[in-house]
Amino acid sequence: MSHTIETEKCIGVPECVEACPVACIHQGKGKNNNNTNWYWIDFSACIDCSICVQVCPTQGAILDREEPTLQKSS
Ligand code: SF4
Ligand code: SF4
Repeated sequence: MSHTIETEKCIGVPECVEACPVACIHQGKGKNNNNTNWYWIDFSACIDCSICVQVCPTQGAILDREEPTLQKSS
């Protein structure tokens, strides 16, 4: 399993990127529907540590489960 960043809830401030111990969070191309940068988690590399959830300023933007329909990845 993996964590998931809801593309349309991410506000693009990359606190999670700096905190992730395995560097599996990447920037998506362009902007999301709210016209902000957005980031995505590589499901195959995430180790489910939840550190990203603890540092994300947007409550609910990162889910502690794999939800591929909510997260774009490129
Ligand atoms: S749960 Fe851990 S490994 Fe997975 S994306 Fe978040 S910080 Fe990275
Ligand atoms: S910390 Fe939260 S809002 Fe910031 S880039 Fe990561 S998921 Fe998006």
